[in-house]
Amino acid sequence: RSKRRGRAQITVYSTEIAQEMKRATQIEQALRNAIITDAVDVHFQPIVRIRDGVVVGFEALARWRDADLGFVSPAVFVPLAEERGFIDALSDTLLRKAAEAALSWPRELFLSFNLSSAQLMDPGTSRNILSTLSRVGLDPRRLELEITETAVMTSADTAQRIISELRASGVRISLDDFGTGQSSLGRLRDFTFDKVKIDRAFISRITSDRASEHIVRAIIAMCQGLDLSVVAEGIEEQADVDMLRALGCGMGQGYHYGRPVDGAATLRYLQDHYHDFMALERI
Ligand code: C2E
Ligand code: MG
Ligand code: MG
Ligand code: MG
Repeated sequence: RSKRRGRAQITVYSTEIAQEMKRATQIEQALRNAIITDAVDVHFQPIVRIRDGVVVGFEALARWRDADLGFVSPAVFVPLAEERGFIDALSDTLLRKAAEAALSWPRELFLSFNLSSAQLMDPGTSRNILSTLSRVGLDPRRLELEITETAVMTSADTAQRIISELRASGVRISLDDFGTGQSSLGRLRDFTFDKVKIDRAFISRITSDRASEHIVRAIIAMCQGLDLSVVAEGIEEQADVDMLRALGCGMGQGYHYGRPVDGAATLRYLQDHYHDFMALERI
């Protein structure tokens, strides 16, 4: 009897798996098509200096809305493009669009762009990125690439080579979602990067949970000692800002400062903050 039930369950699971695979293939085809027709978009979220709230750069975040599938999250379609082998095509399109948008921002502002882990295993990545920048005409010194600890660790030698090549051209590297990956602090010492982004899992609890507060305090102190910049991700409330300012955190990002918005809204945001940048230019 239990055997029969087991078999029934297997049937249910395999139907579910088949449906999931069908949906993945549907997304894959629509996404490949969206890349060709230039229908994948990029939005921008401000990154600010915590001391005074002045914008210092923007993170590019991929956005895609399909007529049939509706809005699909990058947390779904980026890993899918990696698995199915077309992350390069997707990333090239996104970087080109993001870099073109950054050309019309004040030149003091940096563009932060997410690299996927598969790209850090591909030795051609640095050349691809630099050639996209030169085609668009964006100074590599205005670009920051966000990578995760786990991505760096899985293909350490290749990743290290890609990072060195990019840094030699003036691109900066930031470690995204810091504190949630699978690295040891010792391994992190072997890699050269410029900035650490503290994962929002810590920031969201910073005012309610003493452990999170202590972890964030320790990360900030470590970064100061290693001469790395720090960004706190996922700042949603003024109380988070107050706490982070007291802890000496340099930069912040989150809904409190601004949600990711499209290129046109980003330009309007910049216009509203025009006086901030005039101040920034004088620094
Ligand atoms: P991420 O790089 O860590 O990006 C931050 C995510 O947190 C974004 O989600 C952003 O919209 C969200 N976020 C920002 N501020 C807040 C806040 O205050 N509260 C909350 N709850 N969330 C906040 P999004 O846009 O859905 O992106 C999810 C992930 O997808 C990104 O995480 C990144 O890993 C990946 N991704 C997005 N765009 C790209 C891309 O162009 N290339 C690659 N390779 N990955 C991308
Ligand atoms: Mg990121
Ligand atoms: Mg992040
Ligand atoms: Mg994340």
